[in-house]
Amino acid sequence: MSRDVRTILESLGVPTDLEPIAVGNEWRTGSGPELQVTSPIDGKPLAQFTAAAANDVTEVVTAAEESFRGWRTVPGPRRGELVRQIGNRLREQKEALATIVSLEVGKITQEALGEVQEMIDICDFAVGLSRQLYGLTIASERPSHRLMEQWHPLGPIGVITAFNFPVAVWAWNAMLAFVCGDPVIWKPSEKAPLCAMACQGIAASVIADFDDAPPALSNLIIGADRSVGEAVVDAPQLPLISATGSVPMGRAVGQRVAARLGRCLLELGGNNGMIVAPSADLELTVRSAVFAAAGTCGQRCTTLRRLIVHEKVYDEILKQLISLYGRLPIGDPTEQGVLVGPLIDGDAFESMQQALAEAKQQGGMVHFGERVTEGVPEGGLYVRPAIVEIQSEAPIVRQETFAPILYILRYRDFEEAIAIHNDVPQGLSSAVMTNDVREAERFCSPAGSDCGIVNVNVGPSGAEIGGAFGGEKETGGGRESGSDAWKNYMRRTTNTINYSSDLPLAQGIRFDV
Ligand code: NAD
Repeated sequence: MSRDVRTILESLGVPTDLEPIAVGNEWRTGSGPELQVTSPIDGKPLAQFTAAAANDVTEVVTAAEESFRGWRTVPGPRRGELVRQIGNRLREQKEALATIVSLEVGKITQEALGEVQEMIDICDFAVGLSRQLYGLTIASERPSHRLMEQWHPLGPIGVITAFNFPVAVWAWNAMLAFVCGDPVIWKPSEKAPLCAMACQGIAASVIADFDDAPPALSNLIIGADRSVGEAVVDAPQLPLISATGSVPMGRAVGQRVAARLGRCLLELGGNNGMIVAPSADLELTVRSAVFAAAGTCGQRCTTLRRLIVHEKVYDEILKQLISLYGRLPIGDPTEQGVLVGPLIDGDAFESMQQALAEAKQQGGMVHFGERVTEGVPEGGLYVRPAIVEIQSEAPIVRQETFAPILYILRYRDFEEAIAIHNDVPQGLSSAVMTNDVREAERFCSPAGSDCGIVNVNVGPSGAEIGGAFGGEKETGGGRESGSDAWKNYMRRTTNTINYSSDLPLAQGIRFDV
């Protein structure tokens, strides 16, 4: 293990001999293949350890099931107190955890810190929520009866996460699950296992010091391939599988969970668009488009991938974008001033180049997108984000390539823009840049954007935790984080209480015996 990483992980409560399984703060060996972890910054090894195998999943599931029995009866506000303490520990460890995020997935320091801040924010949200797990009281049609809902803990939750938000997505799920009374089994991306170990180290040490928390409240199992994820998905003891990742992953997971009639929360790929109307503030538009399209090197589920521009402002927007793209500071994400870090790995680079080649074949004009080798660490895969002028009908535009490619499409009237916008299989995030209130409202209306996230004069990337996060169509339909997403992690009972000595039946039915 590299010395820097070893020191940081140790400071976060992870033992020096890396193990792929953690039941609370008890780390266990796995029986899977070796997993080599390299940094996308320079391709150098960060760590190596033996991963878990599919048959290691059962012991973790059993431990989580046992811990559920105790945790579900701990009062909600007391569960919130545990999450408050986890949030405080994250505040103390913010820089250390952000450093692991930068080293392991290549985020620039500002974005890595922002990701940890998102974890802290969801802790605060969950603490408040722990006193607000409300059910409704409903008017009963029967005299002297009360009809009411209760929300109860659901059970141990399986959480599968993608590489590109290697810490925040776990926190979105785990913190809500904890206050809702549920333990968590986390199966992180095989591309970001150290981030997962660090989070587990932090959470498990707080849990170990918390009187009424069972040790196996927070659990981790790291595989080297999809087989461990599949075993988690198939475990009937897990009533909910929350899975974040690509559409093919979601399709596989959704079908397996459906086969056992379990519940799924799917957060899958996006193909996010932004309509730029002629009345738009062009300076604001260009700034938000560049952050949304090139930030995180195009590796966000909410990355801007399609810019749908009115013909009157098309040339001006394109000119400004090309000028800014040509000057984007690309390089080591831990260096100050760098805005675009590396792609995660060689596969990401190949799929970007493949998509650009296909775009050319389909009539597209490609600006930039080439590999950058000057002024960047050797061994990392750095690219200059690409802009592609193309027809909206080109098949490549319908696909999510997880790399910084911005397709720029032209429109004439607003209805056409909405039609182009919605004509993709994914439905995560969207934006309109306009100063015309009718267009703004139209975009937010039932006949407007068909996405889960709909923004006006704000780019599609960078959501706040207070709102429900997720999207429609192939994005999977799940909602996480704020608003009432907590209901995913609980089960609802409807209670009818008769406080009379009569027995009136519903629907006025008479059944005299
Ligand atoms: P991926 O689909 O390759 O992997 C995601 C996770 O699923 C990993 O932990 C992986 O091991 C696991 N997995 C893969 N196949 C599986 C299977 N058959 N059964 C069980 N587990 C399986 O995704 P990635 O490359 O890590 O992440 C990028 C993708 O994730 C992009 O499509 C991006 O848009 C999407 N994403 C979506 C959101 C969202 O909230 N909508 C957030 C982040 C990333």
